[in-house]
Amino acid sequence: MSSEELKYLLVGVLVFGFLVRKTLKLLNAKNPIPQIPQNLSEYLSESNLKEAKAYQLENFRFGLIAGIFSFLFTLAFILMGWFGALDSWIEGFSIDPLYQSLLFFGIVFIGSDILSLPFDWYSTFVIEEKYGFNKTTTRTFFSDKLKGYLLSIVIGGGLLLVFLWLIHRMGRDFWWQFWLIAAGFMVAVNLFYTAWILPLFNKLTPLENGELKEKIISYARSVNFPLENIFVMDGSKRSSKANAFFSGFGSRKKVVLYDTLLEQHPPDELVAVLAHEVGHYKKRHILWSMVISVVQVGLMLFLLAQVIFSENMSLALGGNSWSPELNIIGFTMLFSPISMVLGIGMNWLSRKNEFEADAFAKSTFSGKPLAEALKTLSVKTLSDINPHPWYVFVNYSHPPLLERLKKLEKK
Ligand SMILES: [Zn+2]
Repeated sequence: MSSEELKYLLVGVLVFGFLVRKTLKLLNAKNPIPQIPQNLSEYLSESNLKEAKAYQLENFRFGLIAGIFSFLFTLAFILMGWFGALDSWIEGFSIDPLYQSLLFFGIVFIGSDILSLPFDWYSTFVIEEKYGFNKTTTRTFFSDKLKGYLLSIVIGGGLLLVFLWLIHRMGRDFWWQFWLIAAGFMVAVNLFYTAWILPLFNKLTPLENGELKEKIISYARSVNFPLENIFVMDGSKRSSKANAFFSGFGSRKKVVLYDTLLEQHPPDELVAVLAHEVGHYKKRHILWSMVISVVQVGLMLFLLAQVIFSENMSLALGGNSWSPELNIIGFTMLFSPISMVLGIGMNWLSRKNEFEADAFAKSTFSGKPLAEALKTLSVKTLSDINPHPWYVFVNYSHPPLLERLKKLEKK
């Protein structure tokens, strides 16, 4: 394929992805406000539904503006050859090509982060604030950004350096060599996330002794799931939205409950939420999603190895000779439709796993308190009780509330 054809292919992929994403969002936003089902009548009022719709529409409009902005920006970069221009400018510096590549990505990442900053700000301090979710202060917002940057420089920069070094020095074999490193890294993050990374952003305190802890421990024993590490996280520092999750394997596993979750639910519901999480563990969902992610990364690296040495891709993006960094940018764009298809598969699997974890909680503990917990959670977060089925198919990692309730509340 000539560089000119490749350039228009990139534009085509960009336009296609943008249209698909926005059409699905539009369909979902236009889906009518439903009747309140019987089993939600105690939890929801007409005004809750109206508010949820307003929240959804506001997010839709905002997402559309942000999306158009980033779409036009990327389009201009391709059509005007600005990626290539940036690359040629960096080539003027007399440093090792490896560091030229690193500098290129540094500039692209920082540039795109600065551009998205006002959008992040608006989403947090205007939209989330208006609907009462935002608990973040300006100080936390910026200190999160700063810590995020430092973490990106240390961890992301380190990985990127290794990645680029392999490409520059190892040729085509880089893909499987980096794959091994990436796989090791992904496992390590899973093992050490709550111990090392989470504490940079949040405070974790062991759950106090009391009724809740006793109930959790006695449930955990009943399903033969030794559980000593139960932590409470100050999620309320940023948002009123609540959550719970597990991390780590074997004896390193920990469960983290948001303080916002503890405030909003009685002990039985919390045990039920935990039973759902234990279900993920027992059914090996966590292990399998890890395996699948590792395979996906391998596939991506393998495909990247097929295009990264093509000169035409560099020329298509405005470069004047072969450049690995330009080819990586081009590949990321070409890969996005594949990544969308893979994402649909992952979401489908994830929804199936959610049903399985719900069923586990229902059979080992009880379905009712989990159903109650889900109702409270979804009303509080103004979640959509009537999403468009196509939107669910593509984007939902969890089944819609009503489908989960149907199974949980079935006798
Ligand atoms: Zn789940």
